[in-house]
Amino acid sequence: MYTDIIEINEENIDAQKIAEAGEIIRRGGLVAFPTETVYGLGGDALNPDSSKKIYAAKGRPSDNPLIVHIASLKDMEKIVEAVTDEAAKLAEAFWPGPLTMILKKAQCVPFETTGGLDTVAIRMPVHRTARAFIEAAGGYVAAPSANLSGKPSPTCAKYVIQDMDGRIDMIIDGGDAGIGLESTIVDLSSDVPMLLRPGYITLEQLRDVLGDVDIDKTIMDGNCKDRPKAPGMRYRHYAPKGDLKIVVGDLQRVVDTINDLTKQACSQKKRVGVIATDETQGLYCAQSVKSIGSRTDEDTIAHRLYTILREFDDEDIEIIYSESFDVSGVGQAIMNRLLKAAGHQIINLEG
Ligand code: AMP
Ligand code: MG
Repeated sequence: MYTDIIEINEENIDAQKIAEAGEIIRRGGLVAFPTETVYGLGGDALNPDSSKKIYAAKGRPSDNPLIVHIASLKDMEKIVEAVTDEAAKLAEAFWPGPLTMILKKAQCVPFETTGGLDTVAIRMPVHRTARAFIEAAGGYVAAPSANLSGKPSPTCAKYVIQDMDGRIDMIIDGGDAGIGLESTIVDLSSDVPMLLRPGYITLEQLRDVLGDVDIDKTIMDGNCKDRPKAPGMRYRHYAPKGDLKIVVGDLQRVVDTINDLTKQACSQKKRVGVIATDETQGLYCAQSVKSIGSRTDEDTIAHRLYTILREFDDEDIEIIYSESFDVSGVGQAIMNRLLKAAGHQIINLEG
């Protein structure tokens, strides 16, 4: 399949190009597009064949439901059984923005889109190109992240092209995704709201609006035997090609340990990469040492994580060691993705 790659600037949206992209969706095709979180792989959420095509293009298991993206709040009513008070409050506080809500679905949403569930995940992005595109597409765009299943989510068009060129109809290049991690997911379909995936909107922020919010225990605990409530969180995900381990403990000991492990790996002719911070970058001896940003700047760490994992892939790095990060605020989302990328392999130097 030929994939048309076009550029659209969020500050100066080309109406003609957006109309063409929307038309592809209306005809049942697939278009990758930028959002403020990561790039999405869009199809018509109300067309079961489009959802099937999304799963095929990504190589994604079809029991892993898609998020339906909308461009205006009133469009939510058509695809849910009822807009609950909690949903209205969260929309008021965080939409448009990087928050996905799960509610009981209306009949018009096909099970192909919801992975067989009777609930639907909905998000209204703030990115202007994304919103113009969703409107042009008819208002309901099902979109998972635009990577091949199992690879880190793409935060720029280069990586979408790497994974999707030849598999979909169009890629809209809109530059860098600002946040760089997928949306926060909160399930509102049962009695107490539950955080299923941490993201840029934090648990504290959700609790400020809703009061009681539970958290799916499996989010941070690799040993937890429960099944994650978001089907997508069950799969190893976000993974780089190299074997990634996270080293936890006092920072000086972390640096020393990573350097010892690096020397051992190098003596076995392995290519080693390190995820460091601005504060420690100069202290490591590995072939490829990348700073993910300053420890004082969580936004940059979130923004850089997937890019760094992809860069290690590009450099054929075989073993990756990473420092670990605080788990409060956005740090919870950062550590959740890092732990998943590492398949929960941790070298714990504490206690
Ligand atoms: P992605 O599209 O790659 O950001 O992944 C979407 C995430 O949302 C996956 O982890 C899905 O399992 C989750 N998700 C989507 N719809 C639902 C739903 N109805 N119930 C629970 N999780 C959902
Ligand atoms: Mg994804």
